[in-house]
Amino acid sequence: MVQTFSDLALTPAMRDAIARAGYSTPTPIQAQVIGPILEGRDVIGCAQTGTGKTAAFAIPMIEILTRGGARLAPADSRPTRLSAAGPRALVLAPTRELALQIAETFDTLGRAQGVVTVVLIGGESMGPQLSGLQRRPDVIVATPGRLFDHVERRTLGLGTLRIVVLDEADRMLDMGFAPQVERILRVTPLDRQTLCFSATMPTAVEMLVRRHLVRPVRVEVGVIAKPVAKVTQVLYQAPIQQKTPLLLKLLGEEGGQTLVFTRTKHRADRVARAVGAAGHRVTRLHADRSMSQRREALDGFRSGRYRVLIATDIAARGIDVPAIAHVVNFDLPHTAEDYIHRIGRTARAEASGRATSFAAPEEHEQLRTIERHLGHPVPRH
Ligand code: AMP
Repeated sequence: MVQTFSDLALTPAMRDAIARAGYSTPTPIQAQVIGPILEGRDVIGCAQTGTGKTAAFAIPMIEILTRGGARLAPADSRPTRLSAAGPRALVLAPTRELALQIAETFDTLGRAQGVVTVVLIGGESMGPQLSGLQRRPDVIVATPGRLFDHVERRTLGLGTLRIVVLDEADRMLDMGFAPQVERILRVTPLDRQTLCFSATMPTAVEMLVRRHLVRPVRVEVGVIAKPVAKVTQVLYQAPIQQKTPLLLKLLGEEGGQTLVFTRTKHRADRVARAVGAAGHRVTRLHADRSMSQRREALDGFRSGRYRVLIATDIAARGIDVPAIAHVVNFDLPHTAEDYIHRIGRTARAEASGRATSFAAPEEHEQLRTIERHLGHPVPRH
């Protein structure tokens, strides 16, 4: 059984990178999938957000890309170029934010070994992406739509890929990316290694796995689609007009970085104005904001410049801010999966956190769906 990173066949360079990232012991998903990935197996990993799944695939992929050590930098430690022909690894993710965060993990863990990562996401102009591709990346992290554009325009070939990762596969399919994912897989080499990660395993994901993975190793972590045990959940029953005063009261009473989810972009803007007017450092993340505004919001929230981030679901999907103390569902999400994903934003790998939900009388149907899925009521305040 793998209990420490030393139990895994990792190079000293990777051990150093893991130590620099601040990871002391592997999370359960890391303990279970790093070995099979290093052996070249296809993997289907059923894992929630916050389980350390990004590093679970990034660590062995970087090891495979730098295998042999021959490509490693000489003693002066200037990283050398790994890829001569074309990219050797591709990670597909449902949202831009998640793609950016995956790329960051590859940079953190792979930069010293000379691994070059480029992000190709929608909503950004093609120019910088084309110059990124000129850098001959080893790893491409992309949303399916934009990646497909590049393939169609022949600005990128996928014939050199050795490993393909489908991250948050359930969400990618939910968002309607199935045709692009299928077409992309069709133009990658058949003998590639394929890894698929998904929080839930609906039939559509099972079918995708059956079509494109070869004798995959199946790994499940934790109770599927149940929130991480360390999150303390509380529910306030409040009519809509009382939600803003309630939020301001909570922000006043409790400290810590707070992520607030609203149902609509319009509501996110309105709540942000009220929170700002009450003197809190607040920013917003939703689909009507430009890519640079979103980046500024996320970076500012991560660095602590903003204490409160108000977001809608899609924009906040997969965002990784280790210090979130508190998630507030200003509006209840429509599905139990979204509830679990939202509250998974707090209590990441080694911390615990709080999740507070506001439910208006007209949201009772959603509340019942969520509680049925959880298998217990959310504790009332
Ligand atoms: P993920 O599930 O990939 O979104 O990762 C959740 C968080 O866990 C991120 O902030 C990672 O930096 C962190 N993390 C990943 N692996 C470890 C580890 N072995 N020990 C501690 N934290 C980790």
